[in-house]
Amino acid sequence: GTALLWFRRDLRLADLPALACAAERASRVLALYVLDDALLRPAGEPRRAFLHGCLEALAGSLDGRLLVVHGDPVREVPRVAHSIGAGSVHVSTDTGPYGRRRDRAVAAALDGVDWVECGSPYAVTPGRLTKPDGQPYRVFSPFYRAWRRHGWPAPAPSSTVDWIEPEEPFSLPPAPDPGPMSLPRPGEAAAQEIWRSFVESGLDGYAAGRDRPDRPATTRLSPYLRWGCLHPRTMLADLGSRRGADAESLRSELAWREFYADVLYHRPETARQNYDRRFDRLEYDTDQDAFDRWRTGRTGYPIVDAGMRQLLAEGWMHNRVRMIVASFLVKDLHLPWWLGARHFMRHLVDGDLASNQLNWQWVAGTGTDPAPFFRIFNPTTQGEKFDPDGDYVRRYVPELREIPGKAVHQPWKLPRLPTGYPRPIVDHAHERTVALDRYNAIS
Ligand code: FAD
Repeated sequence: GTALLWFRRDLRLADLPALACAAERASRVLALYVLDDALLRPAGEPRRAFLHGCLEALAGSLDGRLLVVHGDPVREVPRVAHSIGAGSVHVSTDTGPYGRRRDRAVAAALDGVDWVECGSPYAVTPGRLTKPDGQPYRVFSPFYRAWRRHGWPAPAPSSTVDWIEPEEPFSLPPAPDPGPMSLPRPGEAAAQEIWRSFVESGLDGYAAGRDRPDRPATTRLSPYLRWGCLHPRTMLADLGSRRGADAESLRSELAWREFYADVLYHRPETARQNYDRRFDRLEYDTDQDAFDRWRTGRTGYPIVDAGMRQLLAEGWMHNRVRMIVASFLVKDLHLPWWLGARHFMRHLVDGDLASNQLNWQWVAGTGTDPAPFFRIFNPTTQGEKFDPDGDYVRRYVPELREIPGKAVHQPWKLPRLPTGYPRPIVDHAHERTVALDRYNAIS
């Protein structure tokens, strides 16, 4: 018989359980992707451009036999399934708030065609792990122990199916223009290459180096994990039983991704609402000018400005710097975390609702297992510690390129401020006490 394989966040052919399941049921399979405005609209050019490239790469691996339709999946998926006489529609489980709603509606509209979910974008499907009392985890460390104990299935076997030639040849609307940005090379082959070379020459030293934005010390695989060009299970299998700080540290970072997906699964409203509702009473400012300076990297704090400009230039920002700029927005500018989260989602190629919103809440102190609110990042000492020679700042802030060494983190101390670079828009020491006062007022 025939089956429909509907790709969503799993734009690859290797280690794809949904494909293995389709191959068990049918010998002829049609590959489908639905361009869904509900998902595309908030994505922003960088992520849409990367998706565009991933779809081209996937179509390439399928010799063009990928049907792309534009519209509402609730209408399009049943229509395409019926048009090929499919007995089943195969997908990877989507546990996000929109994906769950959409999939319920699509499955209900299928009318006699089986809906089959196999695998998910995670090594352990969100919702699977609960505390012994049946409650969801709220703290990472016990989640991590349970996740390791649970383990994960081996990579899915590769399946050969007869891909159905779609009625319409593969085509995409024109690629969104991300402007003069340098985006990662899209697709499964690129992801596998990056991962293989990381295992060979990057893993060694990862634990010690991953906090250093001046060095290429992390995998930079987040956009590929976001779109499923590579599955974390593949990575975990390659890490195998390797012990040692580097492998352990990478496993734990992958587990943070799974933890936040699990939190969002149990508490979908935390995509827009404080996880800890006590913070609903925190007093925020509404200064649009401060937000614009943060957004464009003109706060006068070099590490903050470098990070915000890296985001605009590459659609990616180093994790340590994401924490520093997020803390600055919430605790130095007293602006709500969701404004920053929305800006990130618009510009990040790896923008992911669970990882983004809940990491923001972690930094803001409003989330699960958060950094305590009173632990406030000092942007200057953070810069000096994690970018000790100032190389990261000089790379992204040309106005500061002439300042040698770590002096670049305090340009206001120079006899003359470099031309075109602003003075700090706020005094960190002062704003810190303002933030603590507001916090004490609600706790
Ligand atoms: P590596 O260090 O190589 O880590 C490997 C993988 O582990 C990453 O690709 C990612 O999938 C996962 N990972 C690592 N750290 C985290 C973390 N703290 N939380 C969740 N997963 C993690 N990550 C996203 O994928 N999408 C987002 O939208 C996103 N928004 C963030 C917003 C803020 C405010 C902060 C502080 C962090 C955010 N992160 C987000 C997490 C993290 O910054 C990125 O995953 C990481 O920088 C990606 O780079 P990498 O692939 O080189 O990471």
